[in-house]
Amino acid sequence: MRTKKRKILIIYTGGTIGMVRDAATGALYPFKFDQLMEAVPGLRLLEVEIDAYCFPELIDSSDMGPEGWVHIGQVIEDNYAAYDGFVVLHGTDTMAYTASALSFMLENLGKPVILTGSQLPVGVLRSDGKSNLVNALEMAAATDADGEPMVREVCVCFGDSLFRGNRITKYSAECFDAFRSANFPVLAKAGVHVKWFEDIKDYSHTPSAQPFRVRKKLDSRVLILKIHPGMAPDMMRFLLENSELRGMVLETYGSGNAPTSKAFVEALSVAVRKHIPVINVSQCAEGSVEMGKYAASTQLRDLGVVCGKDITAEAAVTKMMYLLGQELSYEEVCRLLGEPLRGEMAGR
Ligand code: ASP
Repeated sequence: MRTKKRKILIIYTGGTIGMVRDAATGALYPFKFDQLMEAVPGLRLLEVEIDAYCFPELIDSSDMGPEGWVHIGQVIEDNYAAYDGFVVLHGTDTMAYTASALSFMLENLGKPVILTGSQLPVGVLRSDGKSNLVNALEMAAATDADGEPMVREVCVCFGDSLFRGNRITKYSAECFDAFRSANFPVLAKAGVHVKWFEDIKDYSHTPSAQPFRVRKKLDSRVLILKIHPGMAPDMMRFLLENSELRGMVLETYGSGNAPTSKAFVEALSVAVRKHIPVINVSQCAEGSVEMGKYAASTQLRDLGVVCGKDITAEAAVTKMMYLLGQELSYEEVCRLLGEPLRGEMAGR
C-alpha cells in the first residue's frame, strides 16, 4: 500500500540561502522563492508534498524580531491543520533567537517546525543550502512506527545535525557547521540515513491535553547585559532606572559569578526594588550557572536574581519576552524563568 505523502509548508523569510550577489554593488540581497526552487531541482524527487508561503518582504535576519516571530507564528497557526509540518527558511545570524522565541510561543506543539538556512546562497555551486533544505524537509516529514511525527518541537537543521531550537548559538560565520548546542545533545544526524537519537523523545512526546495555540504577545522591553571587568556599576544602574525596562538577562562569568563590590550590588538592587526580573546566564557556552558555588555569586542569589542554569542568552531573552507578554506577577515570571518550559534548560 502506498502511504500518503506528508505535506510540508515552507515559510520563506529571507536569509543567505535565497540571496544573489548584486553585480553593481557586490552585496547580497534576497531573491524570489521560485528562483530558489529552481536552484534545487531535485526537491521534486522527495516523497513530500511542498507548498510555500513567502514573507511579503524577504529580509536579512538582522531585521527579524518579535514582529517577524508573530508573523511566522500566525502562518503556522493558519495552516496548522492543513500541514504535517513546517520548514522555516531563515538567515543564520538570528536563527537561534527566532527558534527560541517560537519554541515558547507555539504552545502544545505536536508537529515539526524546523528552521534552516545556509552560509552560502543556494545558487552558488558549493552552497550548503541544498543539503540543509533537503535534510530539513526529510526530517520534518519523518514519522515513527505509529505514523506520528518524529519531531514535535521547534528545531534547527544545519550542517547535517538536527538541534533543539532553543539550545543553539551561532558559533561560526565561516564554517558550514555554523551552530553549536553545547549543553544539549544533537537530536538527529543526516548521513547515508537519518539517525535519530533518544532525546528526540523528550518532553515534546508527552501529548498535551491542551490544544495548540500561538502566543502573540511579547514584551520586548528587555536587555542582555554582558558584564566585563571595568564595567562601571553606574552604567548598569542607569539602565535599570530607565522607566521602560521590564527585564534583564545578565551575562556573568563562568558558573554565574559577578563583582561583589557594594556599588555593583547596590546598582543591581534597583532591579529588585522595581520588580524587574533578572536572570543570570553564563558567558561560557558550555556548563551551567550555579549560584552559591563561589562567594562571587551569593550576592546575586541573595538579591533574588534567577538562576539561568545552562540556558543560552538567546533562549533567556526570548523566554523573558514571552513571559512578560503574559499577565503574570513578578514572582510568577521569576519562578517560570528558572524552570524548563520547552526543554531550554536542565531540570532541577
Ligand atoms: N546575514 C544573513 C542573515 O542572517 C546571514 C545568513 O543567512 O547566513 O540573514
